[in-house]
Amino acid sequence: MNAKLDSDATTRPVTRQTFDEVLVPTYAPAAMVPVRAAGLDLWDQSGKHYLDFTAGIAVSSLGHCHPTLVAALTKQINTVWHLGNGYTNEPVLRLALALTEATFAQRAFFCNSGAEANEAALKLARKYAHTTFGPHKSRIISCLSSFHGRTLFTVSVGGQPKYTEGFEPLPQEINHIAYNDIAAALAAITDDVAAVIVEPIQGEGGVIPADPAFLKALRERCDATGALLIFDEVQSGVGRTGTLYAYMESGVTPDILTSAKALGNGYPIGAMLTSTAIAEHFGVGSHGTTYGGNPLAATVALNVVETINTPAFLARVKQASAQIFANLTTLAADYPQLFGQVRGQGLLIGLPVAAAFAGRAKDYTKAAEALGLMLLIAGPDVIRLAPALIVSDAQIADADRIMRAAADAILAAA
Ligand SMILES: *Cc1c(COP(=O)(O)O)cnc(C)c1O
Repeated sequence: MNAKLDSDATTRPVTRQTFDEVLVPTYAPAAMVPVRAAGLDLWDQSGKHYLDFTAGIAVSSLGHCHPTLVAALTKQINTVWHLGNGYTNEPVLRLALALTEATFAQRAFFCNSGAEANEAALKLARKYAHTTFGPHKSRIISCLSSFHGRTLFTVSVGGQPKYTEGFEPLPQEINHIAYNDIAAALAAITDDVAAVIVEPIQGEGGVIPADPAFLKALRERCDATGALLIFDEVQSGVGRTGTLYAYMESGVTPDILTSAKALGNGYPIGAMLTSTAIAEHFGVGSHGTTYGGNPLAATVALNVVETINTPAFLARVKQASAQIFANLTTLAADYPQLFGQVRGQGLLIGLPVAAAFAGRAKDYTKAAEALGLMLLIAGPDVIRLAPALIVSDAQIADADRIMRAAADAILAAA
């Protein structure tokens, strides 16, 4: 008999070692295995406590197991789980109303992840260009260091060649320009361009905000050439920057916006938002997904949006952001051997490492984790903070204390 089946499959002991034995090795997860969490508090298998400043990579913006979401999901779980696209459902209709009322968009398409939302956006842009202008208009312009997901189309559009190596042949007619390079954008957006896709803040690429002038130049050039402007707000969206979506403070409105990550607070959902005129180019049968907008995901997302999209909630995000920026600025001044200048927007914050500490952001986050603070990196040279938006002043002070202790530990070991 298979040794794996000796004990009850649902209760048998598992460890970090099990990951290396039975998971496809696409990740290198931390040594500790989280088992339970509430708000920004998290506990591992040994009962050790951590303060979570990762929110599951900018996902659990209302914290772990938020009571409003637990109640809404529990109620929906006892009502109806799934229907398929032959039927619509009340939660998805309410969610689409909420998102279209709150944004520039008049139409929503739902899927299950950020990559799928971008896949839908890119396909829609190509379809729109083909039917409006003809098949010659198919080129897609994206930015170097951008990240748009892991499907073959979205890694090809993403600006990190390491993610496409070995997966060729790749989708065609995709070009990359340097982020924030207006001259390059004007040269690249020619009449054969169907879409320009950009993150208002590059997340995975190092937490780099777009220059407002760059976004404005993209908007103007897209208008002049008939290209559609897509904002990938998968990481920047749903309150993370202090507005419901980052575009709202940028002065530039996209034609298509993609959202995922925080939209479901950990329950998988993605959304593509657009205008009626563009949405019409996706007719019945032209695109779809089995789970998209299912009642469970839609219920969670509706409650997320309703909770986050209030002036008081968003004002608090900006207040918490200002405090963390102040703390990190002082930290960087006190440890110039380790840190550069803090950057980002709202609660999507990057702390680059100093030249002397190049490539070692992960060493620092490991030191912080040992002291009970979970942090992210964004590439080898940037420490990334993305706490739940409900982070308290006391938790901000705790994180500051542990970040200083971790810096001392790194210097003591050097
Ligand atoms: C995470 C991310 C994605 C991909 O989302 P998945 O849900 O992992 O597919 C796409 N774009 C941006 C900007 C992201 O941060």
